Amino acid sequence: MEIKCYACLKPGEKLSEWSYGIPSTPGANDVDVEITHCGICHSDVHQIDNAWGVASYPLVPGHEIVGTVVKVGSGVTSLSVGDTVGIGVQRGNCGQCEQCDMKREHTCPKITKTYAGPGKDKGGFADFIRYPADWVFKIPPKYSRSHAAPLLCAGITTYSPLKKWTPPGGQAVIGIIGVGGLGHVAIQIAKALAWRGKVVAISTSPAKKEECESLGATDFLVSKDSAQMASWASKFDVLLNTVSGIFDLDAYLALLKPDGVMSCVGLPEKDQKCGVFMQSFVLTERRIVGSYLGPKLDYEEMFVFCEKNNIKPMVEEFPSEQINEAIEKLRKNELRYRAVLEMPAAKKLKTNGV
Ligand code: NAP
Ligand code: ZN
Repeated sequence: MEIKCYACLKPGEKLSEWSYGIPSTPGANDVDVEITHCGICHSDVHQIDNAWGVASYPLVPGHEIVGTVVKVGSGVTSLSVGDTVGIGVQRGNCGQCEQCDMKREHTCPKITKTYAGPGKDKGGFADFIRYPADWVFKIPPKYSRSHAAPLLCAGITTYSPLKKWTPPGGQAVIGIIGVGGLGHVAIQIAKALAWRGKVVAISTSPAKKEECESLGATDFLVSKDSAQMASWASKFDVLLNTVSGIFDLDAYLALLKPDGVMSCVGLPEKDQKCGVFMQSFVLTERRIVGSYLGPKLDYEEMFVFCEKNNIKPMVEEFPSEQINEAIEKLRKNELRYRAVLEMPAAKKLKTNGV
């Protein structure tokens, strides 16, 4: 079976049409999904640029995938042909290590991913993908496919740490640093968790203020304005750092209360180090923690939470032929707020009136 896709052939290059072959029958535990939509995450751009030094080429990015199951392996019981499903970053885990035993499959040392892993797997900027059924999730009917797509990465990556670190009671003061694909979903999730607290969008882009407020932010803080930053010093219980580039870690840490937590999900380039003055967190016992994707159990929980709280990504749809234009807009920080590609199968759905 031939899979048509968009690939990056060399680091930093534009994507071009490409194809690769797979056996016609899926493995016993796999499903084949005809992709209708795929979000574009900044991680895709980092990988295109080989920013983390782990990409393998030809690289077929894309890990916010929504589509329709078209074939199921002989051992698959959880999914059927015709199901509308989603796929995120994680492709597999060993199932035998301490992390997997603790239901922390996302930190399994043998984690495999949608693409660019050791097996040189290919991702979702494609018309089909073959995937282990264990890591394929049903999409709740409430969501349109293009709005569901960003939840498969931006949703899970912000839901998991916000749920983990937000103090209970709804009164927390939460800051979301960086309002992009992840950040704009995070504002909505934070609002649902701190419904009578404060949710502060912390941004380098003053033009995003009104949209942030419409997403649920109670306040908007321009991070380049040192007077504004000083007025919010030591006020936050939780900061979620979604910044994709290099930043002044000390300036953001100053915003946390003593014992407050900055959960970092942004993953700038390998060569862009964010240095820290140790006094920015040692004397106050502020905490800097990492957060990666989320455990498998959180995916379904995240969808239920988002559905219940009317959380809806703001998307800009692009026909798949305009993939390079969409990536360029992401690079320029011009998207509001997530680009979602419509693959050829999406047109078929539209024609059929679905
Ligand atoms: P995005 O849409 O480009 O958003 C990133 C936002 O960060 C920008 O919109 C901008 O917001 C802000 N920003 C960019 N450069 C900055 C700088 N130098 N200083 C301060 N702010 C800056 O990216 P995304 O798709 O949300 O992804 C964000 C990061 O998370 C990426 O590094 C990605 O690789 C990473 N990621 C991690 C995980 C995980 O599991 N840990 C999962 C997915 C993605 P403002 O205009 O508001 O300032
Ligand atoms: Zn992502």
